[in-house]
Amino acid sequence: MGKIHQLSELLSNQIAAGEVIERPASVVKELVENAVDAGATKIQIFLKDSGLTEIQVIDNGSGFAPDDLEIAFLRHTTSKISSREDLFRVHSLGFRGEALASIAAVAHVDLKTSIGEPESGRELQISEADAEITKASHPKGSTLTVKDLFYNTPARLKYLKSLSTELSHVADIVNRIALSYPAVSLTLVNDGNQMLNTVGNDKLLQTIAGIYDIKLAKELLPIEGEDLDFKISGYISRPAVTRASKNYLSFLINGRYIRNFQLNKALIEGYGSKLMVGRYPVAIIDITMDPLLVDVNVHPTKREVRLSKEPELMKLLTSIVRDTLGKENLIPDAMENL
Ligand code: ADP
Ligand code: MG
Repeated sequence: MGKIHQLSELLSNQIAAGEVIERPASVVKELVENAVDAGATKIQIFLKDSGLTEIQVIDNGSGFAPDDLEIAFLRHTTSKISSREDLFRVHSLGFRGEALASIAAVAHVDLKTSIGEPESGRELQISEADAEITKASHPKGSTLTVKDLFYNTPARLKYLKSLSTELSHVADIVNRIALSYPAVSLTLVNDGNQMLNTVGNDKLLQTIAGIYDIKLAKELLPIEGEDLDFKISGYISRPAVTRASKNYLSFLINGRYIRNFQLNKALIEGYGSKLMVGRYPVAIIDITMDPLLVDVNVHPTKREVRLSKEPELMKLLTSIVRDTLGKENLIPDAMENL
């Protein structure tokens, strides 16, 4: 008898969850990104104990069709890509079909949803390998409730930090999503305290003001520029307005917020000697490019991407920032929309 056997679906999902679901903030990220992909214009996030006890995300997106519910929580099930070509032209935030399966493997999940047609409302309850679907009423959209995160993976539970640290991770991710989708109204409430509420009127500057503060938003300079491959727009702070960390540098590539050390560097380079040592600007930079130039399938969380023409993009960014700051005194404050 051989000794090799296939792992159970639950166990392999728990292993996969290790990569995608690290902490409450990862659950929030996946659920909110799904809501955005489902076309939601209003997304509300309610946490109990920074999400450790409960995370609830309510959206007014497309909802799950009753037939889709049966398989949505299996691994590698997605509605977002179907061919190899699609993989190189991903337009949605998700495409790996892993998040729901991973979350359900490490928490108790309840989903209420409807596609807005009569009799289409359903409730799905999942715990370990058990799933139960019943009829339920719900307006068009979905309410996902995730309870007792990591109840069955104690090592993960131990790794979590204090409630306030976990909450700041959630706030960071929700802020970044809010900056990426000014047309979506996002609300974040923890233990009854509202932490964020964006209007969702598609005005980036107002969203920035809502997330940081109005005073800061008024000190930002608009930037814009392009070459054959890249189009860059957004806001950067005047050199006098700085922060002690790089957390206020946000980059979006084709609508996806990403982390990229080289882009941070290129942006800071554009400030030249105008920044004090140890101080960093505030910036929200939106970059548009042919999806073929960016590989988002580098890491399961898709925070890191691989850029084909990174040095060219860095050069362009540095020069746009430098030019903008060169004319700083001629540019009025970014007040037009406030
Ligand atoms: P992915 O986002 O990579 O496709 P997920 O496991 O996150 O994988 O979700 C699986 C599928 O479930 C999605 O492709 C989508 O069709 C559906 N789905 C997930 N969340 C929502 C939602 N909030 N509203 C409607 N459909 C959803
Ligand atoms: Mg997803």
